[in-house]
Amino acid sequence: MVPVALGIAIALAGAAIVVAVRSRRAADEHRVAADRAAAALAAQSQSSADAQAVQTLILASMEEGVLLFAPDGAHVFANDSLSHHLGDVAPSSDRLLPIALRDAVRRAGYIGSTVIVEVETGAPTRWLRATAQPVGSDGTVLLVVRDVTETRRLDAVRRDFVSNASHELKTPVASILALAETLGDGALEDQAVAKGFIEQLERDADRLGRIVADLLDLSRLETGSERIDRVALDAMAQDEVARRTEQADAAEVSLTVQIDGVPAIRGSARDLALLLGNLIDNAIRYTQPGGSVSVAIRPDHDAVVIRVADTGVGIPQRDLPRIFERFYRVDQARSRETGGTGLGLSIVRHVTENHGGEVTVESELGQGAVFEVRLPTAAPAQ
Ligand code: ADP
Repeated sequence: MVPVALGIAIALAGAAIVVAVRSRRAADEHRVAADRAAAALAAQSQSSADAQAVQTLILASMEEGVLLFAPDGAHVFANDSLSHHLGDVAPSSDRLLPIALRDAVRRAGYIGSTVIVEVETGAPTRWLRATAQPVGSDGTVLLVVRDVTETRRLDAVRRDFVSNASHELKTPVASILALAETLGDGALEDQAVAKGFIEQLERDADRLGRIVADLLDLSRLETGSERIDRVALDAMAQDEVARRTEQADAAEVSLTVQIDGVPAIRGSARDLALLLGNLIDNAIRYTQPGGSVSVAIRPDHDAVVIRVADTGVGIPQRDLPRIFERFYRVDQARSRETGGTGLGLSIVRHVTENHGGEVTVESELGQGAVFEVRLPTAAPAQ
């Protein structure tokens, strides 16, 4: 039997222990809660530090220049790219150059909505597109600057191309319409005249067909070449030359081919035939009677080199960098008279690039021209 006093003592002690245990548990719980809160706080500040690091990384790796101005015009933040676009960072918006950007920042802060400007700056000239955007309503303004020089250049090239292509197509179409009208108005009665007109109609239709075919080839080539064939360039060159012997004979130009055991390459047979055909065709068309064209293909280390040389009219030095452009011609009249579309060398350049190769030209006016295409034998990455 447990005496009452002892029982009470035990009970009290038990209660005390319970209380002690409870209060220790409470303290533990507090500590755990505090630890958790501290950990959460640390995690939060860690994650906000992480977020900040991520933001800084993003801003630093952006191509666009980013600049933030406080309501009083002082610059608060600039990312690394900004100096590429604007040089030294302006300490405040009223020192910002070019002036058009300063005005854009001022206006955006004043009217409270986005202002976009494009400015030409520097030498060589670059075009910058700047967006000044109010942040909140206190006059803070974010300026984002992007270099749009290349975009503008490509836009201009595209516009030129469309206008050139339309012009090229319009000429034979206008001629066909005029001939048909004249024939309808009575020229049909005169057999000799009618024959001449019909021949001209055929030439115009043929010309239209060639321009359209070249345009279609070019647009297909712009998306790449399907390099799925094992191409024996030697046999292909023999074929392309054979197909043009009649043309060369008519132009009184001697046409020879020399091939030194070249390995087959991986590529698009259709496109490589276009490349060879265009180079040989040009060489014949731009060579005077009595001249010669030679086609040679040889291996060179890890490449195959196609060389088409002629003794023709040649190309002036100043035109050499431009002859691979679409519709660029040194001599408009000669090109048209001989059935040129102005697209042949552009096709050659595309096929070469699609096969990971490079094309070069050497020429002097009156001394002929030498075109060399170097194609790697190992298939480059698609
Ligand atoms: P085209 O159909 O007018 O020949 P290309 O794109 O094939 O167009 O060539 C562009 C221009 O380059 C030609 O108009 C011509 O002035 C010049 N050219 C090309 N190949 C030769 C060559 N072998 N000899 C001289 N000029 C050439």
